[in-house]
Amino acid sequence: MMERLDASIRRQLLLDDRDIVGKPFPLEGNTARFVQANTRHLTLLLLDTDIKNRASRAAAFAANLMDASIAHHLKETIACARGCPYCCTTYVSTSLPEVFRMARAVRGNAPTTERVNTAAARTKAMPQLQREVTRVICPILDNNACSQYDVRPMVCRVVMSTSLESCVRIFTQSANEPFAAPKSLDALRSYLMIILRTALVLAGLPHKHYELAHALEIALADPDSEERWLAGEPIFEPVAVDRLDLTDSPISNLVNVLVGAVRPTI
Ligand code: SF4
Ligand code: SF4
Repeated sequence: MMERLDASIRRQLLLDDRDIVGKPFPLEGNTARFVQANTRHLTLLLLDTDIKNRASRAAAFAANLMDASIAHHLKETIACARGCPYCCTTYVSTSLPEVFRMARAVRGNAPTTERVNTAAARTKAMPQLQREVTRVICPILDNNACSQYDVRPMVCRVVMSTSLESCVRIFTQSANEPFAAPKSLDALRSYLMIILRTALVLAGLPHKHYELAHALEIALADPDSEERWLAGEPIFEPVAVDRLDLTDSPISNLVNVLVGAVRPTI
């Protein structure tokens, strides 16, 4: 394992990071420098025990970075609009900081909490493969729109389509056709999905993803859930891990490379 860099080098890196952190990623040039700076920023935030809601704050930072980068690079006209709910019926895979951020927004809202508990009861009884092909309306959907649009998970932010007709076929008729994702975001997507995950690994926190409804039910059950989780309590033990996190994948390989690059700088 590479040794921690000298303190003066680490201090200089943090100073240099200030011009990069939170800015849209370039897709040419020194992309790695941007990825590492933002990952370092997130890791240090997650390690700051003075901040009680640091997991929610980390999720907010990663989501804002994703939105800024998508807005900067998106070239195609997309079909997505408020009131288009077809994609909000599938398995939603979230990190736990995103679950806590959502729980903070939903807590105290009795109708939404009831919908979360009802959806969780239904989905946790299903094996994931079955859930992925069974249309269950997301409990956050209200009047055909995301009721928590500002705090929706990153996977919901990155799902965009250039064809409504294709979405209707996929989500209502189970058509076996490729999702019409905008090509201009292809290179960006994996960078944006690994930053928070890598920061969680570096901060020594669980980084695997879970199904939204069941994880949210648990987070909502206790106002102190985020603090308990940050303190190491395995409160999500009853929730099944996303099957994609159970084996090595291109994402986990990218995370390992980024962990190796950033760890000496923390
Ligand atoms: S991804 Fe498809 S279903 Fe979802 S909002 Fe966009 S067009 Fe509508
Ligand atoms: S969180 Fe919002 S955007 Fe995501 S699936 Fe649920 S309703 Fe749709």
